[in-house]
Amino acid sequence: MSAATESGTFAAPAIRQKGILIGDEWSPAVSGKTFQTINPATEEVICEVAEGDKADVDRAARAARAAFESGPWSKMDARDRGQLLLKLADLMEENLDELAALETLDNGKPIGDARAADLPLAIDCLRYYAGWADKITGDTIPVRGDYFCYTRREPVGVCGQIIPWNFPILMVAWKWGPALATGNTIVMKPAEQTPLSCLRMGELALEAGFPAGVINIVPGYGPTAGAAIVKHPLIDKVAFTGSGETAQRIMADASTTLKRLTFELGGKSPNIVFADADLDAAITGAEFGLFFNQGQCCCAGSRLFVEEAVHEEFVERVVARANQRVLGNPFDTGTTQGPQVDKDQFDKIMGYIDSGSKEGATCATGGQRVGDRGFFIEPTVFTNVTDEMSIAREEIFGPVMSILKFSEMDEAISRANNTTFGLAAAVWTSDAKKAHKIAASVRAGTVWVNCYDVFDAAAPFGGFKMSGMGRELGEAGLANYTELKTVTVNLGE
Ligand code: ADP
Repeated sequence: MSAATESGTFAAPAIRQKGILIGDEWSPAVSGKTFQTINPATEEVICEVAEGDKADVDRAARAARAAFESGPWSKMDARDRGQLLLKLADLMEENLDELAALETLDNGKPIGDARAADLPLAIDCLRYYAGWADKITGDTIPVRGDYFCYTRREPVGVCGQIIPWNFPILMVAWKWGPALATGNTIVMKPAEQTPLSCLRMGELALEAGFPAGVINIVPGYGPTAGAAIVKHPLIDKVAFTGSGETAQRIMADASTTLKRLTFELGGKSPNIVFADADLDAAITGAEFGLFFNQGQCCCAGSRLFVEEAVHEEFVERVVARANQRVLGNPFDTGTTQGPQVDKDQFDKIMGYIDSGSKEGATCATGGQRVGDRGFFIEPTVFTNVTDEMSIAREEIFGPVMSILKFSEMDEAISRANNTTFGLAAAVWTSDAKKAHKIAASVRAGTVWVNCYDVFDAAAPFGGFKMSGMGRELGEAGLANYTELKTVTVNLGE
């Protein structure tokens, strides 16, 4: 268990689990292979983790299938499934400091964020879905004739769940909550950059009392372990969060088995600030909406549209805020920005910073690496950004803000919609009409009005257009994990 020292620095946690979870047993990979997981703040190897691939996924899928079709899980009362989720949430709370420290170690996110955001949101999500377990009902249907017709909402079966590295434990909760509340079983693959918190969650799930085979975890790489999940005939569904390119690959690979697919993908979310907004709040929202989690958020407000009349003042103040961010050891409670997750992401972001300058935007602050160990990048703000520049079109997934100027509401709407993405958007204004007009006109799955990144387990989240398929969270998230069955009973002679 980590604890804060007097100086406000948390200690790195012990690594308890590095294996593959199949049934209720931890084992090495069938191949015996391992891969390294790296601390992005120091570039040091944290540990070696079992590298699962096709053979391990096959074992996991069989265990999950068996648990789905027979055994205690398949016969368990719905309310008892909910109790297990509540127990798991309690165990997370008891081990909150350790889980948060694992997240900081493996991902690089500031410990303050992990403790105040990732963990509480994940725990809340499991509790929210625990409440649904015994409230998943069908309908009675008034059909013609002497028949009694009703529907049942049954679990889909074995769910493959493939998650990214930006919110590792939160993604576990978003995926496990609805899948388990509805009675499915799981084969999960955490991201190769951040397997550790997911593995610890596997231990806690067994401690909570989930029966063997309900949750199986296969750490490994995407093209091997991930692809094996997508292609496995015993797996009924794949829920994926990650990049659009990988989603396209998954869709193609899933076609042979016609798996149910849900995707939560990238974005280039417009954050629109009108001159009549509360500028203090809008500046805070712009900073948080872009720089939170080192800019590694699929819903980052990465196209910041600012109305001409306040553009100059806004830029000056937002740059000052960017310069106040505290980069450093993510285990220090005072740190507000940690490193990017790995070298690939670091290089990609530095490439975008380079292209922003080359394409004619003005780098108002930042733009450089910080230090020579760890993947730290200065909070960066580009002004004079135009719609066709790559920093205004492509997802950067880093601490790089692009500010664009606008003068008319209709112009802001059409430019906001001029993208293949549609995950989120925000508007800052004191005019309720403008706010609702924007909320109705922007083609995105979530619109925040005078706020940013407000998430709640009860509020659906997901993308329009190439930002996703299906919704997570809320009642809508249950639909991804149930099949609808119609039963017609002859009541006649
Ligand atoms: P990023 O570029 O942010 O790392 P990815 O989409 O590559 O996003 O990764 C998200 C998750 O998808 C990770 O767990 C990764 O291992 C997995 N993944 C990558 N490629 C594939 C694939 N071909 N099939 C299944 N999963 C994959």
